Amino acid sequence: MIVVLKPNTPKERASALIEWLKSQNLTVHISEGEINTVLGLVGDTGEIDMDLVSSLDIVEDVKRVSDPFKCCNRKFHPKDTVIEVGDVKIGGGHFCLIAGPCSVESEEQIVEVAQKVKAAGANILRGGAFKPRTSPYAFQGLKADGIELLLEAKKITGLPIITEIMNANHLPLFEDVDIIQVGARNMQNFELLKELGKLKKPILLKRGLANTLKELLMSAEYIMAGGNEQIILCERGIRTFETQTRNTLDISAVPMLHELSHLPVVVDPSHATGVRSLVEPMALAGAACGADGLMIEVHNDPMHAWCDGAQSLRPEQFAEVAQKVLAVREALRK
Ligand code: PEP
Ligand code: MN
Repeated sequence: MIVVLKPNTPKERASALIEWLKSQNLTVHISEGEINTVLGLVGDTGEIDMDLVSSLDIVEDVKRVSDPFKCCNRKFHPKDTVIEVGDVKIGGGHFCLIAGPCSVESEEQIVEVAQKVKAAGANILRGGAFKPRTSPYAFQGLKADGIELLLEAKKITGLPIITEIMNANHLPLFEDVDIIQVGARNMQNFELLKELGKLKKPILLKRGLANTLKELLMSAEYIMAGGNEQIILCERGIRTFETQTRNTLDISAVPMLHELSHLPVVVDPSHATGVRSLVEPMALAGAACGADGLMIEVHNDPMHAWCDGAQSLRPEQFAEVAQKVLAVREALRK
């Protein structure tokens, strides 16, 4: 249920209503807009007398929300959510460029890539330490050592880091990680999502290989219902009948998610295509349709990458993409 307060409602009157709603066992999400304050109510609203709330002189409107996702719903929170990671902001007009290798391989590799992507304009460093591989015989990541190396690269470059979690038991290792990534394969690992809901740390939630946007939002809802509202959604392509590309980038997901939700949306053109030559055009498409950021795989030596070399850009290619992305964003502002 949504309660829209009238413009210029005195703070004390609003607080009194909020306290009363909380006493009815509801969680109240407060969104202060330019004109109206919107109260998003989560819980069993069936017992609430809507007529009584509507009749209050400070209430402009009361609406039931039939969508199953509440906390991440734009109706609950009309303003864009802005996620802050150190000096970097994501959402609400702020754009992030996340870049780095698929997997952390060595100190030299991650530090070199970090320095080069930073020089090219990236503001967040990615690198997998725990890798979800299709084959159990493939490289599974450097695990705890990989996170240590990311932290080393962060110390040297100042870039905040993002890396993927696969098991809630590993959470203590993620203490100093700036953004925790939930990969496509774990989008519906509900027990993991519930654990992440207990944190006060940004989570980048990737869309599952065969999941709808509603399902993605319901997964975000799992994290938000636990109290962690810092979520970045990521479109990384879905599985279709097409085999020329690794996945099919659902570019319309970006404006659709923006309509449905206030959460920032990032596009990953690397996993969406699996093809190096397609990363740039899809990155530009993401920027052009209003994504709040991009996540791009960059490797200093893609030919010898331990994972996803075929879709990884060399640092100088990434620098070119970053320039063009800036130009697209500039063009949109005009
Ligand atoms: C990744 O970003 O390293 C990754 C494994 O991506 P996805 O979960 O989208 O496949
Ligand atoms: Mn990868």
